[in-house]
Amino acid sequence: MALEKAGTDLKPIGFVRTEAGHPEPSGTWQARSEIVIDEDLSKATEGLGDFSHIVVLYWLHRSHRSRLSLRVHPRGRQENPLVGLFATRSPNRPNPVGIMVVRLLECRRNVLVVEGLDAFDGTPVIDIKPYIPHSDCVKDARVPSWITNHRNLEGKLEDIYRRLSAHYGPQNWWPADGPFEMMVGAILTQSAAWRNVEKAIAKLRESHLLSPGALRRLEQDEIAALIRPCGYYNAKALKLAALAKWLGETWKDDLRGLFSLDARELREKLLSVYGIGDETADSIILYAAEKPVFVIDAYTRRIIDRLGMTPRARDYGAYQALFMDNLPSNSQLFQEYHALLVRLAKEVCQRRPRCDGCCLKGVCSYRKEPDCQG
Ligand code: SF4
Repeated sequence: MALEKAGTDLKPIGFVRTEAGHPEPSGTWQARSEIVIDEDLSKATEGLGDFSHIVVLYWLHRSHRSRLSLRVHPRGRQENPLVGLFATRSPNRPNPVGIMVVRLLECRRNVLVVEGLDAFDGTPVIDIKPYIPHSDCVKDARVPSWITNHRNLEGKLEDIYRRLSAHYGPQNWWPADGPFEMMVGAILTQSAAWRNVEKAIAKLRESHLLSPGALRRLEQDEIAALIRPCGYYNAKALKLAALAKWLGETWKDDLRGLFSLDARELREKLLSVYGIGDETADSIILYAAEKPVFVIDAYTRRIIDRLGMTPRARDYGAYQALFMDNLPSNSQLFQEYHALLVRLAKEVCQRRPRCDGCCLKGVCSYRKEPDCQG
């Protein structure tokens, strides 16, 4: 047990039980989870249900104390100033204790149902205290600007998501029959409209070729002929052939095994395959492997730029960090968010934006630009 190894007499009083829920507009940032307290301690929860909020102390059992650094850039972002570890909430600390104030929804003897706890399933909980506003809430607290900026970004991204989600509803993207079809779609959609990708996938499906083994049996020009509707068909045939070959030779077509890698390792492996770049790799990781990485495409960059949120370094990683550093790490949320941005870009935030009909016009600075139709 991690706590015992720490050489303390700390013992968990319970564990977090959680599973990722569907990112409803009003629920994503307030995900529910349960704190299951040790049966022997269940009497200690008596009276807790009279409080609306509780303070949860928990052990960040997935932190990396081997990566301990006494001065860090908060949230790992180089643009944040280098500050002492204790001036941050970095999980990699000598005693990786997490602390959060969360809403207590229900107190069922030894099970506390809470909202907003940012902790993995199985996280050991080391203490619970009631939140008492007149002693816990400090009205004139001062924080450095890197925190205010971060809170602003978090709030802005959440606001954008809520507006998009309320306007367009659930997108349930990516439309595909299984992970391999998603991988194929992620390659075919490079520089192509989705309706043309659908035609190419339909042809592959009709010919029973939506498996790595079936693709390997084809000559490249045969694949090219089938995927012609999606453009750049010779180049894409080469990429599909490379993917099918790699899956066979390296993974024996075991996608489940491939997708059991963690996101970072999976990304490295995918990027080593001919024809798979950042965006394609991340699409596969997010939609086929269902791991939380944010996909950055031209649509996303365009909208972020117009909203006035362009990151200082304008590269793929900086746009991705904008989302991943400021949103809860949730693959369903990332899927929905990305799909909503694509929808907005296709329908209104086009090359020449139609701002009048845009659900983001209240938070967008671009619509004042002269080129805008709104
Ligand atoms: S208001 Fe105009 S520029 Fe801004 S996001 Fe909407 S369509 Fe794009």
